[in-house]
Amino acid sequence: MIEEVVKTKAMVLREFTKPLALEEVDKPSYGPGEVLLKVKAAGVCGTDLKIRDGLVPTKELPLIPGHEVAGVVAATGADVQRFREGDEVLVSFYIPCNTCRNCRRGRQTICERLKGRIGFEFNGGFAEYVAVPEDCLIPKPPALSFQQAAVIPDALGTCYHVLVRRAQVQKGDYLVIVGGGGGLGLHALQMAKGLGAVVIGVDVSADKLELMKSYGADYVIDGQENPSWSKLVVEYMQGRRADHVVNFVAHQPSIDEGLKATGKGGKLALVAYSKEVKFNALYGHLNEIDLLSTRAATKEDIQECLKLVLAKEVETVISDVISLEDLNYGLQLIKDGKLKGRLVIDLE
Ligand SMILES: [Zn+2]
Ligand SMILES: [Zn+2]
Repeated sequence: MIEEVVKTKAMVLREFTKPLALEEVDKPSYGPGEVLLKVKAAGVCGTDLKIRDGLVPTKELPLIPGHEVAGVVAATGADVQRFREGDEVLVSFYIPCNTCRNCRRGRQTICERLKGRIGFEFNGGFAEYVAVPEDCLIPKPPALSFQQAAVIPDALGTCYHVLVRRAQVQKGDYLVIVGGGGGLGLHALQMAKGLGAVVIGVDVSADKLELMKSYGADYVIDGQENPSWSKLVVEYMQGRRADHVVNFVAHQPSIDEGLKATGKGGKLALVAYSKEVKFNALYGHLNEIDLLSTRAATKEDIQECLKLVLAKEVETVISDVISLEDLNYGLQLIKDGKLKGRLVIDLE
């Protein structure tokens, strides 16, 4: 008997820097310990732009990107124990070994033997179907929509990881969020408020300043109108500098100014990244500044974020919903910095 190959739709990246193409592809195969997921919603983020342009490591092309995925289990491979057909889930997109030293101390995103990531080293969720290891699945609470569930692993998880695991923000800390009006920043802002921090949001348009205020920023600063904005931080904090500056932007002036806004013993956390940034090591030395890098979110972080959303402590900020074939348009929206929240592909 000849087995019929079932075709399904996906957005495929065949050449870096070029638009992705809507293609008919084979339904993904799934092995032992893996499930086939019918994708219901997939978040799109700045990292997808970097992937398209070949700026982050991925598998060899062609690649179906998409690392922010929620859907329904359509089929299960051998040995899958905890999930079955029809289960609604979201995906923790890192595939760690769970046994190395870093995994054992809860730092799975820097696993010594990372098997890869969904949407980077493995095909992802810009498709009708994706294969995912059972270990990466998290049950979707019925109270959340698939769209909400899709943005949680990255847009919320990454914020939780930097604020709670890396910077370890405490009640009463003074915290600056650079790029606070963006798709990650608005979630970080809400979480920082929930942790009891005094929050100053820095961004560059009147719209984004308003958004930061509406999500609870204690003070907001237009970084374009005030290029020396660290002085305003000191003013708002009654002569103090910040305990934490979390940077979601990564361009050099924002790092320079953020460092000036960081007080003695403070932490400068870089969520956004580029290959090179300059860091005034003399200022760092004189003030014992901790320079923190941070990488995505662990499955546990994502589960904590689910609790925050269910408890209504953090609201998911989804500004735009598009269809799968409009992904290139969506990537352009991100590139233009036009979004006022997260972008989600609806596949329901
Ligand atoms: Zn992402
Ligand atoms: Zn590991």
